[in-house]
Amino acid sequence: MKIFQCDNCGQLLFFENTHCGSCGSQLGYLWRQNMLSAVIENDGALEAVASPQARYKFCANHEHNACNWLVPESSEDPYCRACELNRTIPDLDEPAKVEAWQKLERAKHRLVYSLLRLQLPVKSRFKEHETGLWFDFLANVEGEDPIMTGHDGGLITMNIAEADDVQREATRKNMREPYRTLIGHFRHEVGHYYWDQLVASKPEELERFRILFGDETRDYGEALQDHYDNGAPENWPETFVSAYATMHPWEDWAETWAHYLHIVDTLETAYAFGMSLDAPLKPPASVAMIADFDPYEQPDFEPIMNACLPITFAVNSLNRSMGQPDLYPFVLPPAVFEKLRYVHQLVQP
Ligand SMILES: [Zn+2]
Ligand SMILES: [Zn+2]
Ligand SMILES: [Zn+2]
Repeated sequence: MKIFQCDNCGQLLFFENTHCGSCGSQLGYLWRQNMLSAVIENDGALEAVASPQARYKFCANHEHNACNWLVPESSEDPYCRACELNRTIPDLDEPAKVEAWQKLERAKHRLVYSLLRLQLPVKSRFKEHETGLWFDFLANVEGEDPIMTGHDGGLITMNIAEADDVQREATRKNMREPYRTLIGHFRHEVGHYYWDQLVASKPEELERFRILFGDETRDYGEALQDHYDNGAPENWPETFVSAYATMHPWEDWAETWAHYLHIVDTLETAYAFGMSLDAPLKPPASVAMIADFDPYEQPDFEPIMNACLPITFAVNSLNRSMGQPDLYPFVLPPAVFEKLRYVHQLVQP
């Protein structure tokens, strides 16, 4: 993600900030301009310093501390591009559920940022009845089956218990996953949605997909059962990004898609900071890269691929210095880079 700066005082800001930590300016995000702008109230409407001709209002979820995006004042929509995707949110009378939802929204807004930067179609199911996207944020109900996080025909369901760090870490250990985050869930599930949009409906695309990911007509229920009974094949690291990806070609796709978004967004951050690496090592070892390109606007896959190894090695080393787990606890073999290259080609505008 890019770095944002306060229009008023130049302070560095995070995407989620609602106020400048230095001068106190109220802030709102303008997705078209990709700017976090200082906003001033004037005659009941908002003026954004970054877009002074127009007038704005906050997204209706601003009052729940779940969104900082701006909507044109003239718009009939109360919600922003990210929040209009919600079909069900938790009961706002229950503070613990609201807190969980706010955490999920922060991750979901970062997801939508990436989708918009990639110029992918981001349409609410309320507007595009056939092909739009919807989110349900649901809580477990005692005595009922637990809510399953997943995707089904354009509807992404999130169990809000995932926002609880203790619970999520326990699940991660149970499932023997190296990585489990809210943004990881969103990136994975939306991958299933874009498979429907970009691959499933196009016969030539399906052919290309099957060469890399396998035959997705394999019975999903059987594959799932087989995965839980027998686990992943031992040699999975040679061709898959994760053990779960071996379960079914759809899951391989969604895992690969999620990693593509992890990589592109991380490299955009490196680019925003002007990062470069040049470790003085004995050849043939090399940890060198220059993040001198915006990966969201990079038509070639090579620079993205070449930057991956040095930057993940460097940031993992930084994390280890702080006693933290690896930031990116994955090793990508050439076969996975070929799958990532396919995703990259598919999302080019
Ligand atoms: Zn400021
Ligand atoms: Zn919103
Ligand atoms: Zn999945």
